[in-house]
Amino acid sequence: MANLEPVSSLTTDQARQEIADLQDKLTTYGVAYYENDAPLVEDHVYDELYSRLVALETRFPQFITQDSPTQNVGGAETKSGLSKVTHPEPMLSLGDVFSLEELEEWEQRTVKALGMQPSYNLELKIDGLAVALRYEQGQLKQASTRGNGVIGEDVTANVMTIDQVPKTLKEPVDIEVRGEIFMPKASFAALNEKREEDGQEPFANPRNAAAGSLRQLNPKVTKSRKLAAFIYYTAQPEVIGANTQSELLTRFAELGLPTDTHNRVIGKMAEVKPYLDEYTQKRDQLSYGIDGVVVKVNAFDLEYDLGHTVKIPRWAIAYKFPPEEAQTVVRDIEWTVGRTGAVTPTAVMDPVFLAGTTVQRASLHNPDYLEEKDVRIGDTVTLHKAGDIIPEIGMVIVEKRPKDSQPYQIPTKCPACGAPLVHVEGEVVLRCINPFCPAQIQEQLTHFASRNAMNIDGMGPRVVAQLLAADYVKDVAGIYRLTVEQLLKLDKFKEKSAQNLYNAIQASKDNSLERLLFGLGIRLVGAKAARLIAERFLTLPKIAAAKEGEIAEIDGIGDAIADSVVQYFDKPQAQKLMAELAQVGVNLEYRNNEPQADENSFFYGKRVVLTGKLESSSRSGIARWLSRHGADVVGSVSSKTDLVIAGKDAGSKLQKAKELDIPVWDEAEFLTAQRQES
Ligand code: NAD
Repeated sequence: MANLEPVSSLTTDQARQEIADLQDKLTTYGVAYYENDAPLVEDHVYDELYSRLVALETRFPQFITQDSPTQNVGGAETKSGLSKVTHPEPMLSLGDVFSLEELEEWEQRTVKALGMQPSYNLELKIDGLAVALRYEQGQLKQASTRGNGVIGEDVTANVMTIDQVPKTLKEPVDIEVRGEIFMPKASFAALNEKREEDGQEPFANPRNAAAGSLRQLNPKVTKSRKLAAFIYYTAQPEVIGANTQSELLTRFAELGLPTDTHNRVIGKMAEVKPYLDEYTQKRDQLSYGIDGVVVKVNAFDLEYDLGHTVKIPRWAIAYKFPPEEAQTVVRDIEWTVGRTGAVTPTAVMDPVFLAGTTVQRASLHNPDYLEEKDVRIGDTVTLHKAGDIIPEIGMVIVEKRPKDSQPYQIPTKCPACGAPLVHVEGEVVLRCINPFCPAQIQEQLTHFASRNAMNIDGMGPRVVAQLLAADYVKDVAGIYRLTVEQLLKLDKFKEKSAQNLYNAIQASKDNSLERLLFGLGIRLVGAKAARLIAERFLTLPKIAAAKEGEIAEIDGIGDAIADSVVQYFDKPQAQKLMAELAQVGVNLEYRNNEPQADENSFFYGKRVVLTGKLESSSRSGIARWLSRHGADVVGSVSSKTDLVIAGKDAGSKLQKAKELDIPVWDEAEFLTAQRQES
């Protein structure tokens, strides 16, 4: 945003153009952020563009359009499968300021409008998403997201799984309360670690993670995500006898609602600074993310006098913390080889203290990213933490670049085996495609032995490195030929530890197929995909022989995964490995502990498609039940489909079933059939 023309010196034409460009850009960013829960840029980048648009529209109001991001509460259309809820009172956003001066200007306007000095309640601005909870007679009846402010999404079933949200209040009141659903930092870190392990994109920050966990169809997923909540608002404070915001928080706590207790009442704005300083400092120690402080006029009668605009209340303002940033110098760029051959760069920097921890390394993701940022060895860079957690390089400070600096040369050879690196079409990463690359084999073996894969206790990266160095193993089948004598030769191994590792290796031979399939480290095949594929094909040779279309039609498996599986098993090395695994006695079958399907079941041998919002149980629960009864649950409707079970708001699959004249049941019909079976 540096070097922009001052708004006052723009011609009308220039202003019109810039306003239109900014409106477009912010709308695109808004869709990615609010609808897909996957932002394209950092919040402060969005905030700067937004402030510029506000400045331009203030000076050139003739170019304000109704759909400008400044005129709308940013929010998603209802996600498919979630029903719509019309809010009794619009759910608004907040105006924001980025400095004490701007905060003081806001206070002056407020004092002027009121004709008196109000007191304020200061609250932490929780980095989550807004939710409305409707209680009737003290019972939780409905929960909804903010959506576009007027219409939100019904997330009742999901909110019901959040322990902190009471299902029954301590008093039998009829009230709608609002607050924030958020993901504590620890849950966020654990979730992202797991997602990466499963081959899924990590969430950019805890707010998007919370939104993604709430705005989806399976309450079990929400429950597993460990969300939390703080309540801070109602449009009906009189129902519970509160006259001020600070009293309201106390009353909420008395009702059993979770509240953040860090609020503070101040008599005038001059007293705000110590609070801002305190929490700017303490924010890293809090167990949940905050992105600022909300200043609210404390007395409700004054709030009513001030009212609101279409987008924001006039009685509150958010002071946003500046992004936490540090500067440091890049000393090296290291390239590491992953188990699928992806070769990724990491900047190694002078250690620097940032947002609570010492940081020395930051991923540079891929060559395009590195080149776009133009990071060079010796460069001074700005560093921040995405979502307060993941270190990321912001930009190079070009003025501090050493005179003799040279653009960084992207390697052309694998740092581990020296094979030429390739850019596979459609991918951003560089890959080493040498199947015998020692770095890849090291990663593959470690992954194979890991907990969610074959779960060989005691076989971590250090042991694997030694096994490879001693030439005891060359591939995963080799693990099963290891002897206790060989293990005894490893560093720090004694009789007992060698025997334990040997036993763990032998025990892993009996694992069910999905562990083996995940352990093979096929690109895009995470633990869940491995389970779905194993459940469908039952043996490794059958998976290896499956056609792409057969794999892709499994509910939950897309074309990309199917393609990756077929490509993997097409290679002669994979066929050889499969034969060796069989030879050393590794189980290649799916060990379904559940009873075999009853051939007399109505569903036996039928191809069934589930679509729409199913309410009696999660979709995967119903799919499992159907599989147990011998059905083949597939993801898409074709002429071979025997039955479609359509829940609420079913879309294109239902349409296609009707076109192809395939029997369609609603959920009630399915439940009747289910009861008859059991
Ligand atoms: P906001 O998040 O800045 O502020 C309003 C929200 O604050 C309320 O809806 C409420 O959910 C929340 N809040 C938290 N604690 C609160 C408290 N104690 N009292 C009252 N409200 C509290 O506004 P927004 O309209 O939801 O989102 C705009 C912001 O989202 C932008 O400033 C930007 O940072 C971010 N954004 C980022 C991108 C991107 O691409 N990175 C895109 C769109 C929006």
